[in-house]
Amino acid sequence: MGNPKGKTSKSKRDSRRAQTFKLSAPGIVECPQCHEMKLAHRVCPNCGYYKNKEVVSTEK
Ligand SMILES: [Zn+2]
Repeated sequence: MGNPKGKTSKSKRDSRRAQTFKLSAPGIVECPQCHEMKLAHRVCPNCGYYKNKEVVSTEK
């Protein structure tokens, strides 16, 4: 079995764990049409646009 050759230092261990911590939730992007925050790969709920064309009518 592969074993680690030496003890991982506190700074090495902590910096490794720090990279999994993300400030913003993944998969949330800005809509290119209305610049609202929306889920990636989904039709924008604000303007109904996806891939630069309107796919869902937003009129009330
Ligand atoms: Zn939008």
